[in-house]
Amino acid sequence: MLTITAINAFNDNYIWVLRQDSQQTVYVVDPGDPHVVLDYLRKHQLTLAGILITHHHNDHTGGITALAAHVKQTTDQILAVYGPQREAIQGINQPIDPTQSNTLTLPFIDAPIHILSVPGHTAGHIAYLLDGALFCGDTLFSAGCGRLFEGTPAQMWQSLSLLAALPDETRVYCAHEYTLANLKFAQEVDADNAALNKYVEQATTMRAQNKATIPSTIGLERAINPFLRPLAPTIVNSIKSKFCDQDLTKADELSCFALLRQWKDIF
Ligand SMILES: [Zn+2]
Repeated sequence: MLTITAINAFNDNYIWVLRQDSQQTVYVVDPGDPHVVLDYLRKHQLTLAGILITHHHNDHTGGITALAAHVKQTTDQILAVYGPQREAIQGINQPIDPTQSNTLTLPFIDAPIHILSVPGHTAGHIAYLLDGALFCGDTLFSAGCGRLFEGTPAQMWQSLSLLAALPDETRVYCAHEYTLANLKFAQEVDADNAALNKYVEQATTMRAQNKATIPSTIGLERAINPFLRPLAPTIVNSIKSKFCDQDLTKADELSCFALLRQWKDIF
């Protein structure tokens, strides 16, 4: 069985640890901070087999150099660092081109890993899917999605649509605990969504108890995440009243998604 645990980093980042059965050798996803990872490894007497990177932002990659140096120093091994070939990331020695290869097998991990190309937040953003667990970095968040720093709304919409088409039970391990802030915006635009309102109560309770709301699931996100349901009637009406100067008579998914993302940027 694959066990996935979170290491908290910075204010709201999650660094995910992948451990197969009772192996002492683990992988981490998006280690922005090396110190919390080293502390965790030490505390649980684990060694690092490799790193999986989703995109180039420093809060996801900042630990690569120090972790590779640590492995070199303690075991004289070269740490395997996987990540998107399209992005200039120092320390990646296993570059992934999602257009060429979409499956990866890793030592110490039983399930094959499917690579998904999900540009939008950054130009070369990739996601990893294994054993029903999706590591999607800053593409899909619970009740939200990443900002469009490098991609177009069309690219992000296509990436989110790809993720939304995964089975409902797929667990979503995004890289940030942004859920409550995202839910505020979701309620602003989708006020009469009963599933959303119910989930706001649940998530509020979880955060009050200092529990992570991540992983979410694709099924939950399809029900509550406004960025996956831009044509829901309430959302379309909200967009029409917010952007009343625009002609939205022929509003389609992409134009509604783009306006929602624009609205969230200033919310
Ligand atoms: Zn990012």
